[in-house]
Amino acid sequence: MTEEITVIPGDGIGQEVTPAAVEVLEALEVDFAFQEAEAGDYVRSETGEALPEDTYDLVASTDATLFGAVGETAADVILPLRDAVDSFVNVRPATVYPGVDAVRPETDLVFLRENTEGVYSGHEDRLSDDLSTLTRVVTSSASEQLAAFACEFVEDNGYDGFHVAHKANVMRETDGRFRDSVVSVADERGVETEEVLMDAFATHVCLDPTQFDVVVCPNLAGDVLSDLAAGLVGGLGMLPSANIGPERGLFEPVHGSAPDIAGEGIANPAATIISAAMMLEHLGHDEEGKRVRDAVEGVLEDGPRTPDLGGDASTADVTDAIVDRL
Ligand code: ATP
Ligand code: MG
Repeated sequence: MTEEITVIPGDGIGQEVTPAAVEVLEALEVDFAFQEAEAGDYVRSETGEALPEDTYDLVASTDATLFGAVGETAADVILPLRDAVDSFVNVRPATVYPGVDAVRPETDLVFLRENTEGVYSGHEDRLSDDLSTLTRVVTSSASEQLAAFACEFVEDNGYDGFHVAHKANVMRETDGRFRDSVVSVADERGVETEEVLMDAFATHVCLDPTQFDVVVCPNLAGDVLSDLAAGLVGGLGMLPSANIGPERGLFEPVHGSAPDIAGEGIANPAATIISAAMMLEHLGHDEEGKRVRDAVEGVLEDGPRTPDLGGDASTADVTDAIVDRL
C-alpha cells in the first residue's frame, strides 16, 4: 500500500538537505508518494502566514512528514506541526558518527522528551509590574503515554531499561507525578528504570556518558539535556530527531536553516537523511532504515565529505555517494 509522505523543505539549507533525503528514499524499494508543502520565513514574507492551513492539514493527515528547517518563524511553524501529529514524545539520539570530532566519542544516548506539557504548555501570566508567573502542567496520562513509548522503545532496540531524569526532590507534586507515572508503567511492563536527578545527570553525562543509554525526561529538561549531549557528540549537522504521535510522526534534523551557508550547495545532508531513516523505521521499514544508516555511515567514514567535516564535497556529491551505496 502506498504511504503518503509530506515533505516540507522550509528555509535556508532546508531547501538543500530535504530534497537530498527524498532522493535517498526514492532509491529504496518502498512505495512512498511524496507531497511537497510550504512553510517558513519565505512563505510569511509572501503571504503574511508562516504556516499555511493546507500544510497543517496535510501533516495532520498523511502517514509521516519529513521536515527540513525554518528560520525566524520556527516557533510559528514547528510547534503547531508537532500538534498536528499529536506528538507526545520527541526522540533525540545523541550518537557519534564517523568523521566527527566529538568531545566524548564514547557517547551513545537516546533522549525521550515529553513533548506536550511541563513548563512549555504556555500558561504564563504577568500579575503586576513586578511579578510574572508560570503554571507548570503535568498529567499522569501524558507521562504514562511517554512511559509506554519508552518501554516499547527499549524492548524493540535491545536496551535493558531506561533512566528517568527529574527533580522530584524539589518539585514534589509535578515532577513527583511525572516520576511516579513513568516508573509505575515501567514496573507493570517489567522494564527496569533508574531515577536520576536532572542536575546530577548534567554533571554525570559530561564526566562519563557511558553510564546512560535511554533517558526519559520532562519537556524542558529534555530540551536542555539533549542539547548538552549534542555538544558532547560534536556535529550539530549530524543529529536527527523524531516527533512521534499516536498515529503519525514528523522527522527533522536538529540543526536549523543555517543562513550562513544556505544557497551554496555545501550543507551536510546527513542529519536529514538519518531523520529519514528514523521515519522508515517508524513506518515499519526497519530493513530499509538500517540500509540507509549503513550507507550514510559508510560515506561519512570513506568520504566524500562536506566542508563542515573537513571535506570539499557538495551536498549533491554526498547524496550521490549515499545513493550509490544503496
Ligand atoms: P536557525 O536560525 O535556523 O536555527 P542558525 O544560524 O542557528 O539557524 P543552525 O542551523 O542552527 O544555524 O546551525 C548553526 C551553525 O552550524 C550554522 O551556522 C552552520 O554553519 C552549521 N550547520 C548547521 N547545520 C549544518 C549542516 N547540515 N551542514 C553544515 N553546517 C551546518
Ligand atoms: Mg539555530
